[in-house]
Amino acid sequence: MKKRKGCDVLVIGGGPAGLTAALHAAKAGADVCLVDSRPVPGEKLLLSGGGRCNVLPLSVDAGVYATSSSPHTLRKILQSWPLGEVRGFLEDTLGLRLVEQKRTGKVFPASGGGEEVRDRFLAALRRSKVRLLTRTRAMGILPNERRRVVVEGGPGIVADQVIVATGGLSYPRTGSDGFGFRVAETLGHHVVPPYPALVSLRNGRFEHTALAGISVPVRLEVGEGRAKRAAVGDFLFTHRGYSGPVVLNMAYYATRALAAGEHLPVRVAWLDRSESDWLELLAGAKGTLRGMLKKELPDRLVDRLLEELELWESAASPLRREDRARLLRALVAYELPWVDCGGYREAEATGGGVPLGEVDPKTLRSHIVPCVHFCGEVLDAVGPIGGYNFLWAFVTGRLAGEGAALVRKS
Ligand SMILES: Cc1cc2nc3c(=O)[nH]c(=O)nc-3n(C[C@H](O)[C@H](O)[C@H](O)COP(=O)(O)OP(=O)(O)OC[C@H]3O[C@@H](n4cnc5c(N)ncnc54)[C@H](O)[C@@H]3O)c2cc1C
Repeated sequence: MKKRKGCDVLVIGGGPAGLTAALHAAKAGADVCLVDSRPVPGEKLLLSGGGRCNVLPLSVDAGVYATSSSPHTLRKILQSWPLGEVRGFLEDTLGLRLVEQKRTGKVFPASGGGEEVRDRFLAALRRSKVRLLTRTRAMGILPNERRRVVVEGGPGIVADQVIVATGGLSYPRTGSDGFGFRVAETLGHHVVPPYPALVSLRNGRFEHTALAGISVPVRLEVGEGRAKRAAVGDFLFTHRGYSGPVVLNMAYYATRALAAGEHLPVRVAWLDRSESDWLELLAGAKGTLRGMLKKELPDRLVDRLLEELELWESAASPLRREDRARLLRALVAYELPWVDCGGYREAEATGGGVPLGEVDPKTLRSHIVPCVHFCGEVLDAVGPIGGYNFLWAFVTGRLAGEGAALVRKS
């Protein structure tokens, strides 16, 4: 039998979104081809969750995702594939055994981590007769040509429908170099300017290097006034700045504003305590301020705060009025001297992308170029740590895969 050169649906990018899209398009009856620039696709699955691969959250609230598009559209897209059914797909179709970590609200493969997830996806592709072309880099999409997808060093690929699942700009060594954003713009989409998300913040002058390794629960606030956002969680001093779950989850407010030329203040309330909590402790304290604070906070942090405040030798009580005000500010609204972030080399995800309003929320088909669909991180949505970004990749991958197969039939 003569081998067909083209395909009904061509998926560009074999991350979790593209893999899911290819499987669903094939299941819906399409002849599917998947191209990926890397020798083996799905590298982020291997890196994720510290190698353990946090595939899903235990529960989902659409409000935790960041988007500049309509939150209503985002919710509608997420609700198209309920969490329980996504889990069913991973367990029944891929054959993964999953375990729940109740404390953190995360779901992991019981064994094998990201490698097992990727291998099971690849096995499912083979079962579904999806043709996989690795080391194949897409260079562009020509919607009016029969050979729609231009690939590096080869003839274009004939395809009826094209799914762009090339991710964002994060971890470029895994193959994500912003191709999807560039191609979307070339096709006429208005791409929301991308920004690094799930990333550490950096302190330009290495002022807090001596505190590296200290981890402390905090309340972290980004911005001012009504636009201020806050969250509680673990904070970590690093050699170059600030990290830990609460920083990774909140940094995007700061990086998104920075991408637009605005530097937002980032403030910390150590131990998530209020002014009145600290005033109560101060009122009852005997001895030095340093001694009192060291009962509550890590030693090195206390030394640093008191050095900055020049209250090194002070007694805990009574404190001069203005010293007490400065101390309280340092304890409940300590302004981090951040200047930038770890950038795309460190960011676990990319915010911004193709606006959700420029695709059909039921099929993720482009409103501008009807033979193109988008899914995964290339779309304008990003979630916090906890499995939310894989969930988004799976849900949007399914919609785009089924959507593309449906268009081909009609
Ligand atoms: C270190 C790290 C840890 C993470 N941990 C978690 C976690 O535990 N849980 C979670 O939910 N999320 C996690 N994430 C985020 C998650 O990995 C991404 O959100 C998700 O992989 C995005 O899926 P995607 O399919 O849209 O894109 P990607 O996974 O980025 O895949 C894009 C694919 O497209 C290919 N490609 C790109 N350009 C081209 C081109 N021009 N031609 C052909 N192929 C191309 C790439 O090679 C790649 O295989 C983590 C990310 C990182 C970097």
